[in-house]
Amino acid sequence: MLLWRYFALFTILIIAVVSLVCFGVLGSAYSSQARSRITTIGGGLSLFINGKSSDFTGMVGNEMNRYALTEGIDVFLSSADGRALIYTIDPSENWEGIYGEMLSVVDGWTEGRAVVYSSDSLLNYASCVTFNDEQCYLLVQYPMSIVEQSLRSTQIYVLVIAAVAIVVAFVISYVLARRISAPIRSISDTAMRMAKGDYSVQFASAEFEEIARLSESLNYAKDEIKKSDDFQKELLANVSHDLRTPLTMIKAYASMIQEISGDDPQKRQKHLQVIIDESDRLTGLVNDILNASKVSAGLSELNKKVFNLTEFLYGIMNKFDYLQETAGYKFFVDIDADLYTLADEEKIYQVIYNLISNAVNYTGEDKCVYVSLKDCPEQRRIKFSVRDTGKGIPDEEKEHIWDRYYRSKDAHARPVKGTGLGLNIVKIILRAHNFDFGVNSKPGEGSVFYVDFPEVSSLPEQ
Ligand code: ADP
Repeated sequence: MLLWRYFALFTILIIAVVSLVCFGVLGSAYSSQARSRITTIGGGLSLFINGKSSDFTGMVGNEMNRYALTEGIDVFLSSADGRALIYTIDPSENWEGIYGEMLSVVDGWTEGRAVVYSSDSLLNYASCVTFNDEQCYLLVQYPMSIVEQSLRSTQIYVLVIAAVAIVVAFVISYVLARRISAPIRSISDTAMRMAKGDYSVQFASAEFEEIARLSESLNYAKDEIKKSDDFQKELLANVSHDLRTPLTMIKAYASMIQEISGDDPQKRQKHLQVIIDESDRLTGLVNDILNASKVSAGLSELNKKVFNLTEFLYGIMNKFDYLQETAGYKFFVDIDADLYTLADEEKIYQVIYNLISNAVNYTGEDKCVYVSLKDCPEQRRIKFSVRDTGKGIPDEEKEHIWDRYYRSKDAHARPVKGTGLGLNIVKIILRAHNFDFGVNSKPGEGSVFYVDFPEVSSLPEQ
């Protein structure tokens, strides 16, 4: 568990830095504390002694002893010529050395001056006082070993605390790392199972918000992949079914022409027509499927531009002219002039073409289709609508007709062999554009499909 090691390393580093700083700071804090303590004691004693006569020798000795006992220090009062007058410890053995060292610092001083200096393992305070009307020196010696001892015990405390902190930090990092990495590991295991095609998996949520969000997004991604996977499977099944029917027909009629009707021009003509119709249906089917996948794949890149919707609609209507001539359809158009919109032209072509094709397919016996494009200047909208006179769409079907592969079970005037993809393509494109669209229909009275396009003034300046 790499995460755990990082956590632990990080805590050890912090503790090490804190301990090092403590050690450095503690050393100097203790020595400055010792200096100020010895200055206070020395200053107090100097004041006490200063100006006193030899009658007070006992009292001075007592005061010096009091400090010596409570503070662990040694105090000496010496005359200017080097006689130890009063002391807390008999200096006879090395008095010369002590006195000599002090004298090298304080020689020639006058009353009231004081100094703190270090020597060997001692911190010394020396001052010049007047005792029994003669100039004397007061020497206070503070053994540094006291300071070092307390410094050492504090350092041991710091070390013990640091060691305990490191152990605690290890435990906490281990627990924390486990709690963070366990859900991540479970997510990665789940992802592996999903990669093998098991979409029933569920990414578990976790207590940490970021991981919980990650697993939420992964669940969403999984659902989307599942949908697309289902769609592909469904598409394959539907497509192979839909393709087989016309292919069977084409083969059957071609065989018939070969074997039976080859010499009978009338029959042959009829059979050839079936082959042509079925081939057209095949082409339509393949186009729809291609469009559906193209639309799903390319929706992120809408290639919007301003164009003349009026001309555009006339262009599409021209494509339906042949139905007027060959199949007796009647198109009634009511199109306002020079209306401009902003949209992806190619995709809007599919929308309008699909809606008009549906009207053609599902209109009533009279074969009438009404197409209109109306300007609504107050809303800055252009309303496109296409109306047929067919059976209409029952209310309960209205929301489903936009679904992929939805096909009504109702019999229409002409049985239409569609794919159920047309309106789905329309929906996907219009949603991507954020355009209003819908259908108004009453059973028996036909249907009106409409789309609201935004109106723009004209082509932008080139
Ligand atoms: P297809 O027309 O290929 O079946 P669509 O997605 O274009 O697929 O339409 C889905 C269904 O909506 C159709 O099967 C039909 O039942 C219904 N529908 C579409 N347009 C009309 C219309 N103009 N009138 C009545 N029903 C319609």
